[in-house]
Amino acid sequence: MTENAIKITGLRKTYAATGRSEAKEALKGIDLEVRRGSIFGLLGPNGAGKSTLINILAGLVVKSAGSVRIWGFDQDVNPRQSRAAIGIMPQEPNLDPFFTPRGSLEVQAGLYGVPKGRRRTEEILDLIGLADKAEAYARSLSGGMRRRLLLGKALVHSPPILVLDEPTAGVDIELRQQLWQNVRMLNRQGMTIILTTHYLEEAEEMCDEIAIVNHGEIVARDTTANLLGQVTGKTLVVRPREPTPPPAGLPPTIRCDAREGGTLAFSFDSRRATAGQVLDAIREAGVTIEDVRTEEADLEDVFLSITSEKSAA
Ligand code: ADP
Ligand code: MG
Repeated sequence: MTENAIKITGLRKTYAATGRSEAKEALKGIDLEVRRGSIFGLLGPNGAGKSTLINILAGLVVKSAGSVRIWGFDQDVNPRQSRAAIGIMPQEPNLDPFFTPRGSLEVQAGLYGVPKGRRRTEEILDLIGLADKAEAYARSLSGGMRRRLLLGKALVHSPPILVLDEPTAGVDIELRQQLWQNVRMLNRQGMTIILTTHYLEEAEEMCDEIAIVNHGEIVARDTTANLLGQVTGKTLVVRPREPTPPPAGLPPTIRCDAREGGTLAFSFDSRRATAGQVLDAIREAGVTIEDVRTEEADLEDVFLSITSEKSAA
């Protein structure tokens, strides 16, 4: 199968003006393909348009223009099939306080037309660790349990695509780990995962491919490895044997900044020098090196360089 899990073309969304606020162009022509079987990250600052995009996929927000194909089904031509192909864990919890976890899952399965004999309620309760809370009212569940129940609800119709909108925002570390374990397992079983986050570290750890959204546009789209490779700035942080000011006489390709605690940070472009050459230059400039470590670029650097290029242009 070469068909993508998701194919979005020319997607636009303008929220209409209301009494209090003006019209807002949240998506300005998005083209995006998500490969089947991937863990795809949609990254961007608050207000970038991530949830708008997700909610259009979910059929919760009506697009202004463009086309959306989900698992090969055009949303406008085959709304039922395209909706059945995707499960969404929304950013805003939408739990009925009077349902129990078992009840919520049953109702959700009913909404998706899953026949009683094919429901996976007990299996899902186990997966999300709520088997012992199956009969507790939603309003008595902790925040973390509610999140897990939201994940469970996204799975009732066994969709091939799972979408998680900021699943770990405001969530404690333990729950975050648990959630990622579940997500990885679902992915290994063949599920395509799309997640939004503004935690760059998380995207770096979890996703094979990433799109960065800013002001309703995709400003970068690549494999995580390629995006990280874009950052060519490297830094060697040196602890001199004796307290030393930044040395004179370095080649112009190396910049030196004094850091707090008496270390010196030597920044260079990895396309123009190797770490070995930089170390030699530091010694030649008269610095005796007690200790040295490298600072690798992370997604934060990529993100900053991309978003600042855009605003400078
Ligand atoms: P993100 O999820 O990346 O934080 P959103 O998609 O929620 O971004 O929002 C994108 C922009 O659209 C923001 O400026 C937001 O204020 C606006 N917006 C989102 N939802 C609505 C809505 N229902 N009505 C009007 N404006 C909205
Ligand atoms: Mg959002």
